[in-house]
Amino acid sequence: MAELSLRGVHKFYGKVHAVCGIDLEIPDKELTVLVGPSGCGKSTLLRMIAGLEEINDGSIAIDGNVVNDVRPKDRDVAMVFQNYALYPHMSVFENIAFGLRMRKTPNAEVEERVKRAAEMLGIPDLVERMPRQLSGGQRQRVAMGRAMVRDAKLYLFDEPLSNLDAQLRDEMRTEIKRLHQDLQSTMIYVTHDQVEAMTLADRIVLLRDGIIEQQGAPLELYERPANKFVAGFLGSPSMNFIPAKIELDGGAPAVRLADDVRLHLPAARAGEFSGAAGRNVLLGIRPEHMHRQREGDDQPGFEALPIRVEIVEPMGANTLINFHIGGTSILARLDAYADEKPGAELTLLVDMNRAVVIDPESEKII
Ligand code: ADP
Repeated sequence: MAELSLRGVHKFYGKVHAVCGIDLEIPDKELTVLVGPSGCGKSTLLRMIAGLEEINDGSIAIDGNVVNDVRPKDRDVAMVFQNYALYPHMSVFENIAFGLRMRKTPNAEVEERVKRAAEMLGIPDLVERMPRQLSGGQRQRVAMGRAMVRDAKLYLFDEPLSNLDAQLRDEMRTEIKRLHQDLQSTMIYVTHDQVEAMTLADRIVLLRDGIIEQQGAPLELYERPANKFVAGFLGSPSMNFIPAKIELDGGAPAVRLADDVRLHLPAARAGEFSGAAGRNVLLGIRPEHMHRQREGDDQPGFEALPIRVEIVEPMGANTLINFHIGGTSILARLDAYADEKPGAELTLLVDMNRAVVIDPESEKII
């Protein structure tokens, strides 16, 4: 059982204000992912929770006890680092056992715990090997095993998969999620990779410049981003942002994207935009919220958008199509059978129920 509570936490490195007053509650058993672009302060925050960095203001409490002045080894947290940090001269077994030995755990218990961890991680046959005899993915499993045997209150992961190749990363991501389900422990995971954040997290905490931009369940942030930054950060490829002007078409709200392109907003939003004719906005549309119009395809809230294909990128499962509206380059993710050639003309249907309208000044979602 471990709850974590951060109140008004600040960190300065000289003049750099790396963490700017973070308030964060992490409930027991939750897998929270701290995500954001490089330099947003996520590693600093994790290291402060571990006790590896001092905090300049505020408090950090584990299970209600403020740990600001508690040394890392007394905080009962286990941490997995990006560079594995294995001891090269020790076997896999001894690497995993290291923390237990330091705590003078009896031999029989060490044997049993290491065995159980190695089995959970799928490496029971590797325990006699030395780290240099392992692949990157195997080394990362050993590093995780070393954290797991500890029975810590809190497990912290600092970009543990970024040294692995893409396929292994996908595999290990699934393993970590399985591990969290099996162990039922509180985990905090730092990454710059939004796919890792979306797929792993019970809750995402999205940081920028030392502050929390938004936090919530992955699909909550994906479907209801608070601002342009969140909308653009989550989702791959990123949301398209198109400069537009609000128009009222006999009272029905619409966005004018170019001289010859106008899309209606859902009728339910008429009230919000009743006095907004002429207002400059950005229209946000995700690539996956457009599809090819088919015969008889007439769903409410979908608007027709004629385009001229410029670039075609087949991905296998689907195909990315690039085109322009006015001066803006747009990506649409269509089904796999898009066999259009550059220059082809086709009509897409845009899901306006899921489009967002953004104020260009404040960058907030309207
Ligand atoms: P992230 O993990 O999100 O990439 P960090 O937490 O590592 O970001 O860094 C946040 C900010 O603090 C960055 O501007 C970084 O340059 C700065 N920073 C981090 N560690 C130090 C340090 N030891 N000395 C000076 N500045 C640092």
